Amino acid sequence: MKSLISLFLLSFVLHLSSSAGPENWKDIDAVCGGDRQSPVNIVTKATQLDKRLTPFNLTGYKTVFDTTVKKNNYTIEVAINTTATVSGGNLEDTYKPLQFHLHWGTNGVRGSEHTIDGEQYPMELHVVHIKQKYSTLTEAFKDPFGLAAFGFFLEESNSDNKNFDNLITVLGSIQNKTGDVSIKNVSASQFLLPEETMTSYYRYNGSLTVPNCGESVIWTVFEKPIPLSKKQRRDTNGWDIPTRTASCRTYSLPVERSGGPGQRGASLRLHHYNIQSVPSMLKQPSPD
Ligand SMILES: [Zn+2]
Repeated sequence: MKSLISLFLLSFVLHLSSSAGPENWKDIDAVCGGDRQSPVNIVTKATQLDKRLTPFNLTGYKTVFDTTVKKNNYTIEVAINTTATVSGGNLEDTYKPLQFHLHWGTNGVRGSEHTIDGEQYPMELHVVHIKQKYSTLTEAFKDPFGLAAFGFFLEESNSDNKNFDNLITVLGSIQNKTGDVSIKNVSASQFLLPEETMTSYYRYNGSLTVPNCGESVIWTVFEKPIPLSKKQRRDTNGWDIPTRTASCRTYSLPVERSGGPGQRGASLRLHHYNIQSVPSMLKQPSPD
């Protein structure tokens, strides 16, 4: 299980060399040329309110645990070393979180993977879950909804986000190094939006964002960003990984990819849920 997870996590964050960049990934794995690929540009005016999308039920995310921060040549990843579950939100089952990791740009360039109306955020945090009933990722990959990923944007704020202090301290200590470092007394929830504000999100069925590009991921991209101050970002030279190569492709849906060669079919819809919008949603129910 552990080695499978490592293998998966490696493939999840693996950024190939420029000679085999995102445009060539389909030659490495045909799935990468599929019609359910992530990330996407979220065209907000083309999203549909969906009454099936409800608040999430989270358990165990506030449990404090000790874990490791892995900094490799591609990303910074934190194992969620405790038992937690998420259900609701029209997820078809109960899922358990395995890890979260970060995407960011180098040299001040914005680096979120998903974009909103073409706009990129400075950073994006991904929480990777698999269905609770699965013990291996191999099993999860066989299921078209075997994985659930949460995407949170990070934006620059004027004041520090204290919840990231211990992670930033650890990252400072491993500057210019790779490998695992321990971090103590953290909870999954401290790195996410407060649960009560996880009330507006976009939903689509997608994939891993790097090879193997497995199309088994239910994506939830939260609208409200997590704040992180410019100072905190600057303090974390440990975030910067000089060898990290540029990032993924970004797909657009639903409107921009509704036809044409190689484009995603119109059958895939991007839905959203916003608790503030429930009354109008009830007046104008989603057609599907
Ligand atoms: Zn990711």
